[in-house]
Amino acid sequence: MAITIYTNEDIKPGAIAGQRIAVIGYGSQGRAHAQNLKDSGHDVIVGVRHGGTGWKHATEDGVPTAEPAEAVRGADVIAILTPDMVQNEVYRDIIEPNAKPGAALLFAHGFSIIYHRITPRDDMDVILVAPKGPGDLVRREFARGRGVPSLFAIERDATGKARDRAMGYAKGIGGATGGLLETSFREETETDLFGEQAVLCGGAKELVIQGFNTLVDAGYQPEIAYFECLHELKLIVDLFYEGGISKMHHFISETAKWGAVASGPRVITDETRARMKTVLDEIQSGQFAREWIAENEAGKPKYEALLTEDRSSQIEQVGARLRDRMAWLQTAKQAAA
Ligand code: NAD
Ligand code: MG
Ligand code: MG
Ligand code: MG
Ligand code: MG
Repeated sequence: MAITIYTNEDIKPGAIAGQRIAVIGYGSQGRAHAQNLKDSGHDVIVGVRHGGTGWKHATEDGVPTAEPAEAVRGADVIAILTPDMVQNEVYRDIIEPNAKPGAALLFAHGFSIIYHRITPRDDMDVILVAPKGPGDLVRREFARGRGVPSLFAIERDATGKARDRAMGYAKGIGGATGGLLETSFREETETDLFGEQAVLCGGAKELVIQGFNTLVDAGYQPEIAYFECLHELKLIVDLFYEGGISKMHHFISETAKWGAVASGPRVITDETRARMKTVLDEIQSGQFAREWIAENEAGKPKYEALLTEDRSSQIEQVGARLRDRMAWLQTAKQAAA
């Protein structure tokens, strides 16, 4: 049976009426959630240190702020939207000592719960609302009267209100306008980690770099290789996004299509598929989380070294020079600044 996609009509009117929402962390997700909730008529307060960047942004946006502990004290729903790796400290030092009995702890990603970084107090609801898009899109779509499809999950319903709270919050950020899908903390966490590692961030990046290196090693000009292996990927991804694999097939040449079906499976092989399964196994067993936590505790030496390697690769040098000539990117850069 296909998954249920909930929309605004499926959510109890006043599901979170009269409940105060504290948003802790004012980054990509926090900024979008807080602004959307406020514009939906909810009582929102952002917990940020006075004088910090988050405080500055929230003040500019006209969203009420308080010191994090103060924001938590009055709240019925506490959204923890700091980076995953610091959530355990934020919970221990700020949330647990100050949260009122029966408050809900709301996540946008289940890492801290699934890998036991946080064990919420028994009286608290534990819920998740995760938009399937970055914060700026969540805000932008909401401002246009639309919304980004979102996931919600209930890990613990201590008060009998957990479901209304998750669905009401999701509606408040525009998630039910975009379509709301129910998942579990485990499914959200493991699929999110797998997607970013194997396909979106890790897999796609390596595919691009190795394609580029193959052409350059064979003696082709790096600039030409850059266009073929990195630049044009956007056109293809846009087609996937708009109409799936079929739309891409529809728009590319016969020759490209034949090459795609004949050579694609020779590049991404059963061996790649087996490696993907290993990556998934390590996510499910907790090995990935243990290694990432240990890496953080060691001050991230390997993380920094591997990032530096990516940043100093030839494709990055070549790309920077070519992108300087793409006027439309300069406009986008100015708009973002
Ligand atoms: P971010 O890095 O953009 O912002 C984090 C915010 O937390 C910043 O305002 C930062 O100043 C603040 N912060 C950092 N350390 C802190 C501390 N010790 N105490 C208090 N505040 C602190 O984070 P993000 O990308 O919005 O991620 C937040 C959560 O949302 C994570 O659980 C993430 O997995 C999840 N998520 C993110 C996205 C995304 O597109 N970025 C999408 C879905 C889910
Ligand atoms: Mg994700
Ligand atoms: Mg993620
Ligand atoms: Mg081409
Ligand atoms: Mg071609």
